[in-house]
Amino acid sequence: MTTEKIDTLVVGAGQAGVAMSEHLTRNGISHIVLEKDRIAERWRTGRWDSLVANGPAWHDRFPGLDYDDADPESFPSKDRVARYFEQYAAKFEAPIRCGVEVRKAERNVGHPGFTVETSQGTIECENIVAATGAFQIPVMPDLVTAREGLTQMHSIDYRNPGALPEGAVLVVGAGSSGVQIAEELVRAGRRVYLSVGPHDRPPRVYRGRDYCWWLGVLGLWDIPAPRPGTEHVTIAVSGAYGGHTVDFRDLARQGITLVGRTTDCDQGVLTFSGDLAANIAQGDANYLSVLDAADAWAERNGVDLPEEPEARVFGPDPDCVTHPLRSLNLAEAGITTIVWATGYRRDYSWLKVDAFDEDGAPRHQRGVSTEPGVYFLGLPWQSRRGSTFIWGVWHDARHVADQIAIQRSYRDYVGPARSMRQTA
Ligand SMILES: Cc1cc2nc3c(=O)[nH]c(=O)nc-3n(C[C@H](O)[C@H](O)[C@H](O)COP(=O)(O)OP(=O)(O)OC[C@H]3O[C@@H](n4cnc5c(N)ncnc54)[C@H](O)[C@@H]3O)c2cc1C
Repeated sequence: MTTEKIDTLVVGAGQAGVAMSEHLTRNGISHIVLEKDRIAERWRTGRWDSLVANGPAWHDRFPGLDYDDADPESFPSKDRVARYFEQYAAKFEAPIRCGVEVRKAERNVGHPGFTVETSQGTIECENIVAATGAFQIPVMPDLVTAREGLTQMHSIDYRNPGALPEGAVLVVGAGSSGVQIAEELVRAGRRVYLSVGPHDRPPRVYRGRDYCWWLGVLGLWDIPAPRPGTEHVTIAVSGAYGGHTVDFRDLARQGITLVGRTTDCDQGVLTFSGDLAANIAQGDANYLSVLDAADAWAERNGVDLPEEPEARVFGPDPDCVTHPLRSLNLAEAGITTIVWATGYRRDYSWLKVDAFDEDGAPRHQRGVSTEPGVYFLGLPWQSRRGSTFIWGVWHDARHVADQIAIQRSYRDYVGPARSMRQTA
């Protein structure tokens, strides 16, 4: 089999790979994008049926294309988001090859570049951009031992209420996935327990503007990672049912029993930590901090947006918060399913280069790794808070493409051979 040669290889054609391809094209850098499945596969098959974008159509998009069939204030369905990226890639004829998996990439010895083994042969390239996503492998704690009559799944495998066995459901995790799945289940008539850890919960809309807009004007999408170890922030937002602020008191009023973090399970009895009220209070504080910052911004800039003092009024704490359950017998509660909405981890096992720290985390600066020629895209906090989000990755891709172009200009420089020796 012959070896194909290419300047830059992008691995993965999710939103990151599509954005990367656009910026490489703009820089005139020849490249291909290899995708093991289809463009934006995660949006097609890695999400539950009813999932919509967490941001409105005007925001959750790339600068160069609007959703041509959606109200800008609406929340596009997951399939519409996938189609958007397909349309976007078609717009500039992105050189994407679908159905090709990258199995291994290694630095060449004795000559520049990398040798890449794929499911369809070998490729040699000068640069590799790993755009394989930050949310690759589902994380599911090994807390509850398998038992008859109990189904356990990660949120990546949840599809809809009808696909779960009859009975009550425990949803673990109060980020956007956990709260949206719990709400869908209670609306479908299920008995639901929701295990709530620390989280942020920005207002969906305040003073007539979506939180995506507020985070934009306040510069909060652009903040760099706060401190090492505090990069992971669980954000509870929802675009479901037309979009609404996530308020755990409202979820309790709908019938969901809130519990603290799930810490243990012994012989079918779950233990919850006593942090529920504190987690909700911390989420409230985060919510109020966004309102405060928004008010200060509006006043400072003299922007006339309708005031909304009622947004600061919370309903009473429900009984499940004031008298929280600390343990629960799964069988007695009739729980037949646990949905673990507990996040994901990365997987760069195919990339055999010196660009990772001892924990396997990419060593990089804004996506430019410590191994020359290796770049990352779509990492959490790659350059800013917005880096894993649709609009943010597009800006990170521009920086990475610029860096590749800069390196190429050094590589291609052919000036006169100069000597530092003085001639008499
Ligand atoms: C439930 C959920 C909801 C989200 N909702 C939003 C939202 O509303 N708005 C928003 O802005 N962000 C949202 N995000 C965050 C983020 O936008 C998505 O996770 C998005 O899919 C990340 O895009 P990506 O291109 O970085 O990675 P991915 O979408 O994961 O794409 C990576 C691609 O690489 C391919 N791939 C992986 N390994 C290989 C290999 N070895 N060879 C070839 N191909 C490979 C995969 O098949 C995949 O298509 C959400 C995330 C989750 C988990």
